[in-house]
Amino acid sequence: MGNIMTNRLDRGFERYQDEFESAALKVLRSGWYILGKELENFEKNYADFTGSRFCAGCGNGLDALTLACRAIGISAGDEVIVQGNTFIASAMGISAAGGTPVFVEPDEYYQLDPSQIEQHITERTKAVMVVHLYGQTAKAEEIKAICDKHGLKMIEDCAQSHGAYAGGKMSGTVGDIGCFSFYPSKNLGCFGDGGAIVTDNEEYAAHIRQLRNYGSSVRYHNEELGVNSRLDEMQAALLNVRLSHLKELNEERKAAAAVYNAGITNPKIIKPVCREGAEHVYHQYVIRCSERDALAEHLKNKGVDTIIHYPIPPHLSKAYAFLGLKEGSLPITEEYAKTVLSIPMYNGITKEEQQTVIEAINEF
Ligand SMILES: *Cc1c(COP(=O)(O)O)cnc(C)c1O
Repeated sequence: MGNIMTNRLDRGFERYQDEFESAALKVLRSGWYILGKELENFEKNYADFTGSRFCAGCGNGLDALTLACRAIGISAGDEVIVQGNTFIASAMGISAAGGTPVFVEPDEYYQLDPSQIEQHITERTKAVMVVHLYGQTAKAEEIKAICDKHGLKMIEDCAQSHGAYAGGKMSGTVGDIGCFSFYPSKNLGCFGDGGAIVTDNEEYAAHIRQLRNYGSSVRYHNEELGVNSRLDEMQAALLNVRLSHLKELNEERKAAAAVYNAGITNPKIIKPVCREGAEHVYHQYVIRCSERDALAEHLKNKGVDTIIHYPIPPHLSKAYAFLGLKEGSLPITEEYAKTVLSIPMYNGITKEEQQTVIEAINEF
């Protein structure tokens, strides 16, 4: 028997296999594969689900972030404040639009710390990007108030927080634009690459629809330099199926997290805590341990795979060496990178699998 893996996409498929297969066949037989009814349908469904006026599909999460940054007017020389401990796509979305990410420290819930923002605002700051990391929502309303006070836009990176509420509103709808990835392992995953933005701003939605299609709204009339980044009919159709089950899928992840919370008792382990007023949909179940690498090795030998989200913070990556940020510039972010560990968490994980994980962790 192989190790318990960190993710099992096959179980997510098998669960609604008949629905997925009939949706896929319908698209195959339709003779229409890009920018059609399935996408329109999904955009309407996802706007409704999030409580937004508009949704626009695109090719992936990075493009959602990039196009959102372009829509709010980020260009060369503009700074966007973002947390240091994120997947590098958050930063690359800012960079791809021509802007510069300004990394700040996270709070104890791994989210952007509102108290870190104002000291980093300069003449060139145009926006704040809030990442709801690991599936827990950040203090989005508090951050929005800071943005309003300083005339800044707010973008939310919701690639890990589909369906999670940040206070009274769903993540992605607190700021100006919410950006989603539908990469297969996400809480709302498709069967390839996919992404979308949600917004209440009609101009932003129309602009992003134009940008995603070569900068044209009317065929062969190209208003600006756009990209090719569309959510295809197949992925949209499959997402419509998954979206209809997202609530129960998120509840199942929460239940699995509760099993870990109750079962893991090893004092060497720091378990994730959900902040009062936040929601956590457990895209990842991330623990911390000062002997992280030894723990990972021990778990591997006990039949449990793990993964680190993320071992190299963006500011220390080669890609961002040009910013000139040295080790020690973001101590909390760097400490997290050295100590975090994600244990198996996915829809369809069994009680037995979780028991194996729990026993292996408690033995360490
Ligand atoms: C997955 C992810 C992205 C990027 O999504 P892609 O669809 O892979 O481009 C961006 N930000 C965060 C926080 C993510 O987890």
